[in-house]
Amino acid sequence: MRAVVMKFGGSSVVDATAIDRVVSIVAGERNRGRAPVVVVSALGGVTDSLLALAERARTGVSHADLENGIAGLRRRHVDEAARLGADRDGTLLPFLDGHFDELQAAMDEIARRRSADPALMDIIAAAGELLSSRLVAAALAVRNFPSVWVDAREVVVTNDSHTCAIPLMDETAAAAVAAIEPLVSDGRIPVLGGFVGRTLEGITTTLGRGGSDYSASLVGAAIHAVEIQIWTDVDGMLTADPRIVDDAEVVRHLSFAEAAELAYFGAKVLHPSTIFPAVSRNIPVRILNSHRPEAQGTLITADPPAAQSHRPFAALACKRGITILDITSTRMLMAHGFLRRVFEAFEVNATAVDVVTTSEVSVSVTIDDPRRLPAIIEALSEFAEVRREDQMAIVCVVGDGLQRDPALAAQVLASVGDVPLRMVSQAASRRNVTIVLRDEDLAKGMGRLHGEFFG
Ligand code: ADP
Ligand code: ASP
Ligand code: MG
Repeated sequence: MRAVVMKFGGSSVVDATAIDRVVSIVAGERNRGRAPVVVVSALGGVTDSLLALAERARTGVSHADLENGIAGLRRRHVDEAARLGADRDGTLLPFLDGHFDELQAAMDEIARRRSADPALMDIIAAAGELLSSRLVAAALAVRNFPSVWVDAREVVVTNDSHTCAIPLMDETAAAAVAAIEPLVSDGRIPVLGGFVGRTLEGITTTLGRGGSDYSASLVGAAIHAVEIQIWTDVDGMLTADPRIVDDAEVVRHLSFAEAAELAYFGAKVLHPSTIFPAVSRNIPVRILNSHRPEAQGTLITADPPAAQSHRPFAALACKRGITILDITSTRMLMAHGFLRRVFEAFEVNATAVDVVTTSEVSVSVTIDDPRRLPAIIEALSEFAEVRREDQMAIVCVVGDGLQRDPALAAQVLASVGDVPLRMVSQAASRRNVTIVLRDEDLAKGMGRLHGEFFG
C-alpha cells in the first residue's frame, strides 16, 4: 500500500471548478499507482463566515439576520453541489440540510446565552470541513471514483482545549488506522475534513486556525503514508510572504527543521504543527499549487541535498500583530527568582512567548496572542515595571546554512540598515536569526533582507 495524503486548502475547494481540479489531481495520483487519502478544508472563506456569524449571534443580532446568514452559506453549498452534479444518490442534500439545522441550533444557543461557549464555537467552526468533505467525496463518487466519506471526528482524537485542541497521538494513530487503512487496502479513496476532531467523550473539537494541514500530517504519520501533500494557492514555500515581498521565489527543498521554523514564525502556507508528525515517521512533505499542478512545488525532507542552493538562507518568515513587553525588576529579586516569576505569569495565563532578550534587570518578550494581556500585566506588576508596545512584527531569517557560517548573523543585521530594531536574537539551533521591529517598518526591513539574501 503506497498511501499518499493529499490535503486541499480552502482556495483549492472554493467552488465547483476548483473541486473539479481536485478530482483530476487525485485521479492523477491514482494513475501513478498510489492510494490517495484526501483531506480537505472548508470551502474558501466559510470558516471566517461561520466565526463572524457566531460573533454576531453573541453580540445580539436578530434571529432573522442569523437565519439569513446561515441560509446564504447553505445556498452556496447546495449550488456548488448542483454544479458538480454531486447528489446522484440523493443522500448529499439531506446530509447538508441536517448539518445546517445543527448549525442553526448552535447559533441560536449562542444568541440565547449572549456568550460563545468554546464547545459551541467548535461545533460551528467544524461545520465548514464536515460539509466540504462530504461534498468533495460526492464529487469524486459521481465521477466514478470509489470515494468514501470519513467523519474526521472518528479519526482525530484530542484533548478538550476547545478551539485549539491538542491531538492525543496514540489514540489518533489507532483511530486513523482503524478508519482509513481498510478503505485504502480495499482500493477506495477516503475523504475527510481537516481541522476537526473529537474528545475521548465524543465532543467535537477543532485544532486551531489553519489546522487542516496538521490533520493531514497526523493521518499521514498514522497510516505510514509515503508522502504528505499540501495543495494550496501558491507554488510552494516562497522565500518570503508574497503579501509583503513581491518578488518572492519558490524554495525547491527544505529540511524539516527549516520548514518547522518558518511555519512557527509566520509562513502561513504551513500550520506550525504540520511537520512534527511527518518527522516522527520520516515522511516527505510536499507543498503544491492546485491551480498549477504541473509546478514542481517545495519538497520537505529530513536532509535536503547540501548543495541544493547557492543561497545561505532558505527563506524569511514574518509574524505581524506582535506585542513586546519590557519587564524591569522593581525589587532586588535574585535574577533566577525574577525570571521564574516572569515566566510563571505567562504559564498561568497559557500564553506562549516567542522571542526573549534579557539584561541584568530586565527581560523583553514578545507575544502574538494578546487575549490574556491584562491578566499577565497585572501578575507581572506585582514585582516588576511593565512597558507594553503593540504593533510590532517579528522577522525570522531561517536556514541550516547559518550553522556553517556564523558571520551571516552580522550580515543580517547590517542589511536592515537604518530600520530600528527593538529586539535581536539567534536561536540555540543556530538555524535562525530573529529580529523584532515596528510593523510600519516591516515591508522595508523584509525588502532589504530579501534583496540581500535572495535578490
Ligand atoms: P490554504 O487555504 O491552502 O491552507 P493558506 O492561506 O493557509 O492556504 O496558505 C497559503 C498562503 O500563505 C499563501 O497564499 C500566501 O499568501 C501565504 N504565505 C505566507 N508566507 C508564505 C511563504 N513563505 N510561502 C508561501 N506562502 C506564504
Ligand atoms: N478551515 C480552517 C481555517 O480556515 C482550517 C484550515 O483551512 O486549515 O482555519
Ligand atoms: Mg492553511
